[in-house]
Amino acid sequence: MNIILLGPPGAGKGTQARILVAERGMIQLSTGDMLRAARSSGSEMGKRVAAIMDAGELVTDEIVIGLIEEQLEAHPEGGFIFDGFPRTLGQADALGALLEKHGMKLDAVIEMRVDDDALVERITARSTCATCGEVYNDITKPIPADGKCAVCGGTEFKRRADDNEESLRTRLMEYYKKTSPLIGYYYAKGDLRTVNGLGEIDEVAAEIAKVLDSSA
Ligand code: AMP
Repeated sequence: MNIILLGPPGAGKGTQARILVAERGMIQLSTGDMLRAARSSGSEMGKRVAAIMDAGELVTDEIVIGLIEEQLEAHPEGGFIFDGFPRTLGQADALGALLEKHGMKLDAVIEMRVDDDALVERITARSTCATCGEVYNDITKPIPADGKCAVCGGTEFKRRADDNEESLRTRLMEYYKKTSPLIGYYYAKGDLRTVNGLGEIDEVAAEIAKVLDSSA
């Protein structure tokens, strides 16, 4: 089964993708994570995208489509969660063509709906474990009092360079201008399912599980 998690920054796509990886053995394809990895590796591409990402703008379709194609080729068995991709209509068309080329299909597009005030609050409070990537939130899911990650025991936590209010505003604007049209696009294709992204993490996970079980 291949699915897209669609929603604005801070909707909880990464958190839910990690749950699906753990519970269903799916493969998370986060273009944001891939781009951050390219930056830390110091590659030419990483250097080219760094300033764009820090400003909260979108990198070119060509770059992210290339990253996704590499992954489709590396995992012919499929079982993907597309997280943060596609983000433009061009990327959505390209994904459709790539899946077809590899004999795969999209089973569901899950829109995670969250109101904008909640996004700003979530993102500015967000941190992740530097070792395993577990996501924490100062308000809703604080780092344990002993300072150790609840999943792996790691003691180092980091905040994303683009998780500040200024870059968040640009990221939101990019979302509304370029990504939100995908809601209509996938609705018209008959693939769209919407869940309430505002609940507790477990509640949202249960809603997503229901959608996936009914699309299987
Ligand atoms: P994310 O971790 O998904 O919030 O992505 C972080 C940043 O990486 C975004 O603000 C963009 O600069 C870039 N990015 C990630 N995915 C894409 C994509 N599908 N298209 C264009 N830019 C992307």
